[in-house]
Amino acid sequence: MESDKWSKVLGWVDNAQTEELINQPAAACDSRQLGLKCSQSGQHASRSMKKNRSKPTAQALRRSLRELARVARVLALEGHEDITLGHVSMRDPAGRGLWIKRGGIGLGEVGAKDFQLIDFDGNLLQGKGERHNEWPIHAELLRTRPEIDFVGHTHADYIVLMSCLDEELRPYTHAAVFFDPIPPRFTQTSELITTPELGRALAAAVGGAAAAIIRNHGCCFVGRSVAELCTNGILLRQACEIQFKLSLSNARQVWPEAAEAARKRAALSVNASGVELYWNYYRRKLEQHEKRR
Ligand SMILES: [Zn+2]
Repeated sequence: MESDKWSKVLGWVDNAQTEELINQPAAACDSRQLGLKCSQSGQHASRSMKKNRSKPTAQALRRSLRELARVARVLALEGHEDITLGHVSMRDPAGRGLWIKRGGIGLGEVGAKDFQLIDFDGNLLQGKGERHNEWPIHAELLRTRPEIDFVGHTHADYIVLMSCLDEELRPYTHAAVFFDPIPPRFTQTSELITTPELGRALAAAVGGAAAAIIRNHGCCFVGRSVAELCTNGILLRQACEIQFKLSLSNARQVWPEAAEAARKRAALSVNASGVELYWNYYRRKLEQHEKRR
């Protein structure tokens, strides 16, 4: 059941509230009133819920979109910004499609009101402004991956550099070891992914992986929570930076074999609670950065 899944994702929404969320008419979910979305710890969100149980639906979506906006701004801080290009999205909890960052602004400028609701065919249902034309990346990944609710697509500097090398990513250090499987390369085209056909081809290449490198273009990454989405994007860039810089060296290179990498992965606590710790670190870092401005 869709409602059951979102109850788990949001953590604190009980069954009755979840039903209300699913049954909410589109007009009540206007992005001008709502913020963004989830991935706060259940404890924190639970406290907020107790403060105002009269509007759980609007609050849940607002909180989720606000968190997704934070992901966009953290990614900008961590080397993912490319002018106004790059976008993040989340599955609409009411099953109408997905909320995607609007066009015309950079990742570092995204706030809770900068998301549009589109259906899986790209039709604008709510929100204003330009729609990113690579929306099929998000629609097709979310359509083919029911276990994930968040997608990112960026042209992060070192990921773009790695995307120009005909090299598979290797588990040189912690950053790449984090991924299992190692993010594959999508090599069919370097052109913009603006059609459902290309979106489906990309989704097929990604398979069950948490991220992929798109040849001569950038990357995509996914998550079951905003914490996973953000962590996957950041660690993919770190892994690409390490490998690209190593590629400039003539020194002999080594990397751990599969069993050693698996042991490292286990020791790194690559699980939901571990990822939540990383996300909380980046939330604090963003907060400090924005206070200084
Ligand atoms: Zn792109």
